[in-house]
Amino acid sequence: MEFYHELQKYPWDEVEAWIESRTASHVETAVGTQPMQLENFLSLLSPAAEPFLEEMAQCSHRLTEQRFGKVINLFAPLYLSNVCTNRCAYCGFNADNPVARLTLTPEQVETEAKFIHEMGFRHLLLVSGDSPHIVTMEYLHAVLEKLRPLFASISIEIFPLDGGAYCKLIEHGVDGLTVFQETYHEDRYRDFHLSGKKRDFRWRLGTPERGGDAGFRRLGMGALLGLCNWRVEGFFLADSGWERFWGSATGGSKVFSSDSMPATCYAPSGSHTSASLFPGCARRQELMSLHLRFPMPTWCNCSPLSGSSCLTPEWFSRRGNLPYFAIIWCRLE
Ligand code: SF4
Repeated sequence: MEFYHELQKYPWDEVEAWIESRTASHVETAVGTQPMQLENFLSLLSPAAEPFLEEMAQCSHRLTEQRFGKVINLFAPLYLSNVCTNRCAYCGFNADNPVARLTLTPEQVETEAKFIHEMGFRHLLLVSGDSPHIVTMEYLHAVLEKLRPLFASISIEIFPLDGGAYCKLIEHGVDGLTVFQETYHEDRYRDFHLSGKKRDFRWRLGTPERGGDAGFRRLGMGALLGLCNWRVEGFFLADSGWERFWGSATGGSKVFSSDSMPATCYAPSGSHTSASLFPGCARRQELMSLHLRFPMPTWCNCSPLSGSSCLTPEWFSRRGNLPYFAIIWCRLE
């Protein structure tokens, strides 16, 4: 089932009211319950859970070590192009923003990649604005040709593509796809995505399915915590992984997940957002980090490949000071 239909099953306002109605006793039950179910997870997201943070942190830590050990998977983003045809209200690369635009040639990408490689990174994330007329498939293939010998893993965070294009990219060595839904609130999504292809909520929402069907081993999804109620975003972010990939044809039983959280938030020059608009962003990330670890390990396969992921601060630099929270799903062949 397309996740869009799953989303319709849970009206935003009802989820919000349900989260608000949770009590301390619901939270106590939820903290001790494994495997976690969505209903219990809602309790952990509630304001009633805040006095239990220390207990949740200890439990989360235990589960994380049990499943992932002390592994940290670091990767570096490499920006191919900041040309963008979209107008996302929170983004410094918004098409209306008069910033210098640059698209690296494949040779320039190689130079940057070698520098990243010398720093010790073996996992690379290729990022670009929404510019399919510039970041074409031919361009991506030429870039990948140069990068494949250098990196053990190459992921993309570019504009959503169709399944056929994803299959081609996998053939050329890409193994991971990241796409951030920004917000799962369809009406608010339109308020923030003023024009361009990204305004199509449903096309973006379906991207992880297309990527999973194409065969990416690693799928990253995330939300911007600040556009709407972050607790409800957390619910839909977890549900999106839960419903789409756990036990589904897309993920099968060979799925594990890990989470990611930046240490801090950065504001880019030319950003349309300001710190005062979104106070407490680091706190939100901290809370989300704890919350999402609870359901995740119940879906995990232990594997030497598993581990938690940390993102480098540059990843966040173009999204104002809005904190992201992401989950990354990996398929083990
Ligand atoms: S968030 Fe992405 S798609 Fe939106 S304006 Fe920024 S670079 Fe473009």
